[in-house]
Amino acid sequence: MKHNYDVAIIGGGIIGMGTGCYLARKGIKIALIEREYLGSGSTGRCIGGIRQQFSTSTSIRLMRESIELFSKMEEEFGFPVEFHQGGYLLLAHSEKMVDIFKANIEIQKKEKVNVSLLTPGEANKVVPHLNLENLHAAAYCPDDGQAFPFAVLKGYKQQIERHKGALFLHNKVEKIEKTNPFVIMLQDGTRIESEKVLLCAGPWTAEIAQTIGLDLPLSPERHEAIITERMPKFLEPMVVDYREDGCYFNQFISGQICGCYTPIPNVPGIRDDASFEFVPNVAWRMTRLVPAIKNASILRHWAGCYTMTPDGNPLVGESPVDGLYVASGMSGHGFMFGPAIAKHLAHYIIQGEWDTDFSEFSINRSFENRESLK
Ligand SMILES: Cc1cc2nc3c(=O)[nH]c(=O)nc-3n(C[C@H](O)[C@H](O)[C@H](O)COP(=O)(O)OP(=O)(O)OC[C@H]3O[C@@H](n4cnc5c(N)ncnc54)[C@H](O)[C@@H]3O)c2cc1C
Repeated sequence: MKHNYDVAIIGGGIIGMGTGCYLARKGIKIALIEREYLGSGSTGRCIGGIRQQFSTSTSIRLMRESIELFSKMEEEFGFPVEFHQGGYLLLAHSEKMVDIFKANIEIQKKEKVNVSLLTPGEANKVVPHLNLENLHAAAYCPDDGQAFPFAVLKGYKQQIERHKGALFLHNKVEKIEKTNPFVIMLQDGTRIESEKVLLCAGPWTAEIAQTIGLDLPLSPERHEAIITERMPKFLEPMVVDYREDGCYFNQFISGQICGCYTPIPNVPGIRDDASFEFVPNVAWRMTRLVPAIKNASILRHWAGCYTMTPDGNPLVGESPVDGLYVASGMSGHGFMFGPAIAKHLAHYIIQGEWDTDFSEFSINRSFENRESLK
């Protein structure tokens, strides 16, 4: 079978679904192709944290916009996406980290983010059971929060369908041909012709790009998470411990506590195998910070990928192949960036120019300025 579209989107994660939604709403004829089910890549494996505490103006502005978009989703979609602004509390256990927080807070305040540097005593009021040992200070923004990734994807899916977008699910892209229009061959033999292609296949983006001779500086790595049984809600913010043996965790509005840590050294590759050592390690790290979690039973444990770039910032824009757009390298913040990136990227694909500054994410940047709060 042969199909013709304006834009073919490869990847049904937050980036593909969000951009598909904004394109379809503008009357663009889209095909969204997903090898498995929607959210089966990184998006369905993430823990839904949303923060504005970044170190560059571009990221901070985008995140302010994303929060605005998350806050309107219930009204737009007609059902809740479990968006909740319980804040983010970032912990500094060294003076070096305090200095990083201070420098970032200066930039964040210029961008009108409601953020402040707290003493350990003040942090203890935000998280009453917090272990204050060796804590120097904390950065706190009460407007940060969380949402439920599958609910957000469901909302985008309904919007895409309402605006006559086509979804090809459980159907892997086998090959992209650089013809005019592009030809995309799917696993089941379907042939899609499209004027433009958006490649947003998360951890698989680099390997698909290589099939048309494009080298992208993307490296997937494994990250794991656990979720506990429901507990009475006692934890409002996402707590982030930046020590080498630190962790980050939040409590969903359902009462479940979800926790992760960044392994050192990192575990490269496209991997979703959950490791034996993660569970006791994450439990130790979380209960060290908030001993009250000790009574929680772990329900489930899983793994997924962060897709990294050399500077920790996303890679978003038109590639050297005319008409082929890339949006990947979302690190540990693709879910939160998703709505704002999707909105601006859809505009760029339609109009050929950005309606806000995306140079920090451009594909041919130098990668010298690293995001300090990964
Ligand atoms: C444990 C963990 C916790 C995280 N916590 C957070 C958090 O709190 N907040 C946050 O913002 N981010 C978090 N992240 C990161 C976040 O999940 C990602 O940055 C984000 O989901 C990336 O979205 P994406 O759309 O780029 O990629 P994906 O969600 O991976 O979507 C890409 C899709 O492309 C599909 N695909 C691949 N190859 C093909 C092909 N050949 N044909 C068709 N389809 C294909 C895949 O199946 C996949 O569904 C976390 C990640 C992990 C693993």
